[in-house]
Amino acid sequence: MSQGLELRELRLSYGTTEVLRGADLSVPSGQTACVIGPSGSGKSTLLRCVNRLAEPESGEVLLDGESILHANPDRVRQRIGMVFQHFNLFGHRTVLDNITMPLRTVRGLSKVDAHHTALARLGEVGLAHKAQYRPSALSGGQRQRVAIARALAMEPEVMLFDEATSALDPELVKGVLELIAELAEGGMTMIVVTHEMGFARRVADQVAFMDRGRVLEVGTPEQIFDSPETLRLQRFLDQVR
Ligand code: ADP
Ligand code: MG
Repeated sequence: MSQGLELRELRLSYGTTEVLRGADLSVPSGQTACVIGPSGSGKSTLLRCVNRLAEPESGEVLLDGESILHANPDRVRQRIGMVFQHFNLFGHRTVLDNITMPLRTVRGLSKVDAHHTALARLGEVGLAHKAQYRPSALSGGQRQRVAIARALAMEPEVMLFDEATSALDPELVKGVLELIAELAEGGMTMIVVTHEMGFARRVADQVAFMDRGRVLEVGTPEQIFDSPETLRLQRFLDQVR
């Protein structure tokens, strides 16, 4: 039984559009897979299947050898955290509340324990001093760090990032990427969908190129970026760099 995350032959259609057409990806425990590929190739849908936000018609998602597709979705989301492009924070609550709420409802922590955990996590992303602010008073980069702290507070085994820096002003991208890189170095198991090719090259254990609903090529950063095998990947790389 392999430790880590395994996506097998995922298929999913919206109406007549086949969005996932047998997508495979295997991420050993403690490793980071970066997923690259053109817009519309199914990257977000792939992550959504792993987090039970979308249901594949067939295929399997295994975490440490066990299917998560039939497990309780709340339990799955506790084990597998996800960070989105647009933060998805509650705007009318404080930064602290945004983190304590799921700690109380999902992990069942007491008010005091939730408070302590949330502050500790905020400290780790350098934002303990913003605990009582509303998200709207923060920069995009700070908001994304709050979203990451919120996900980490659940003590997930796996983290998924869906273009976490795509909505940020350029000068804010670096801080968030550094945080993700630190998680990778710390041994978190992760799938990171990103347009940041330099980041993928530096941080990924493996890079997966998605094209039209499939993982068309997968390999080390050197293999993918320096010796792409398919014309489709070559063309994609030509466009993005
Ligand atoms: P990517 O993240 O690589 O840009 P997505 O997974 O978001 O790709 O989308 C892949 C395709 O699926 C796109 O053509 C998109 O329009 C379509 N799609 C995604 N979500 C839905 C949905 N909820 N309903 C209908 N079509 C969808
Ligand atoms: Mg997407």
